[in-house]
Amino acid sequence: MRESKSVIVCGGGVVGLCCAYYLAREGRAVTVLERNGEVRDHCALGSAGYVSPSHVIPLAAPGMVWQGLKWMLNPRSPFYIKPRLDSDLLRWSWLFMRSANRAHVERAAPILRDLCVASRALFEELDDITGHAFEFKKEGLLNLCKTAAGLDHEAHGLARLANELGVEAQILNAAQTAALEPGIKLDVAGSVYFPIDAHLTPWRFAQTLTALLKEMGVRFQWNTTVFGWRTEAGRIAAVQTTAGDLLADEFVLAGGSWAPAMLTGLGLRLPLQAGKGYSLTLPQPRFKVTKPMICTERRIAVTPMGDTLRFGGTMELSGINHDVRLERVQQIIDSVPLYFPELTAADFSGIQPWHGLRPVAPDGMPYVGRFNRYRNLTAACGHAMLGVTMAPISGLLVAEILAGRKPSVALQMLDPNRYA
Ligand SMILES: Cc1cc2nc3c(=O)[nH]c(=O)nc-3n(C[C@H](O)[C@H](O)[C@H](O)COP(=O)(O)OP(=O)(O)OC[C@H]3O[C@@H](n4cnc5c(N)ncnc54)[C@H](O)[C@@H]3O)c2cc1C
Repeated sequence: MRESKSVIVCGGGVVGLCCAYYLAREGRAVTVLERNGEVRDHCALGSAGYVSPSHVIPLAAPGMVWQGLKWMLNPRSPFYIKPRLDSDLLRWSWLFMRSANRAHVERAAPILRDLCVASRALFEELDDITGHAFEFKKEGLLNLCKTAAGLDHEAHGLARLANELGVEAQILNAAQTAALEPGIKLDVAGSVYFPIDAHLTPWRFAQTLTALLKEMGVRFQWNTTVFGWRTEAGRIAAVQTTAGDLLADEFVLAGGSWAPAMLTGLGLRLPLQAGKGYSLTLPQPRFKVTKPMICTERRIAVTPMGDTLRFGGTMELSGINHDVRLERVQQIIDSVPLYFPELTAADFSGIQPWHGLRPVAPDGMPYVGRFNRYRNLTAACGHAMLGVTMAPISGLLVAEILAGRKPSVALQMLDPNRYA
């Protein structure tokens, strides 16, 4: 049955775009509000573009608190929290510590798997519908391990859990790893290969989806900032924006790291920290790579995108700002030759670092669901390192929630009211 209720999606990142797609597909009258113009930066643009069912372990996992404390002392480490007296950060850190245990991983991992596997299938559909316009490649993912100890850790940790959950993980030695990427020289002890993973070129995906949405009749209001809400009897009556008050039957919060700020005035709590990451893209790399890779010990993601090669990484919780910490960019540059001996720091000279703010919930699970207090407001945010991967399934879930249908994936762990 076709629905005609109007929906305003607040935020035009990949998650907002995917919400708009699945809502419009059901016949909803959809408007996307985005504070920037159509040609804009957003968190997916410089991302690694992984569509990663292999990422079954949430950020909040055993060992992460101790590891995080050690890394905090090292400004060049892959994970960094800028120490500061901020009540939101203190509460977030406490909630993170509360979740960083085995029981949480055991509950979260099957849900993450379900979300990512379902989303990968939706990407395949979108790839077909759009005529293969966003370079969606099903090449798998190689988690490169520099040392035997690193390989052992991956084999007994992520790979074992993934296999238990039905996400195939193959443990490869150095020769088997090299055989999968014959065009390059790798200095590694081995790798874990996840055949199910895929990747895409994020700017092409966002551009293609925007064009498709326009064809479907979705309205975009660019350069329109949300700054408040009008409420009436437990419902949102209008969203207050720089273009005036806008009315709709339903509202979707897809503001990424800005989602908590967007909720101003509603008395809702949505713990979220911006996790800054950087990437560097070589326009003409000296060799051709076919598969995306992760330099596991250094947490660096490497993705072939068209003719270019992108290196990304670091998770820096330093608040919402656009400061570029060069020592953290340098951490990426210094790590690359350890795994790819043909590359040197000189390959990166003159390459401008990109940065983006991942929206990170303290338990490593996104917020997807209706708010109890305002029943026509639905969250779709907090996807952290998996926002590209999970964008389509999040959009589908939002459409299912608004239609009152059974959701494709269990929603309990994604409840936006879980920290209310
Ligand atoms: C280095 C790096 C690598 C990554 N690699 C991957 C990867 O390989 N795979 C993966 O799955 N994920 C990856 N991610 C994570 C992924 O990019 C994010 O999770 C995802 O892009 C978040 O999308 P979003 O739509 O929720 O947020 P955003 O992209 O931040 O979109 C939110 C939008 O809301 C708008 N907005 C904010 N406030 C307002 C307001 N008041 N009014 C109107 N509009 C507003 C913003 O302008 C923005 O466009 C990576 C991230 C980084 C930084």
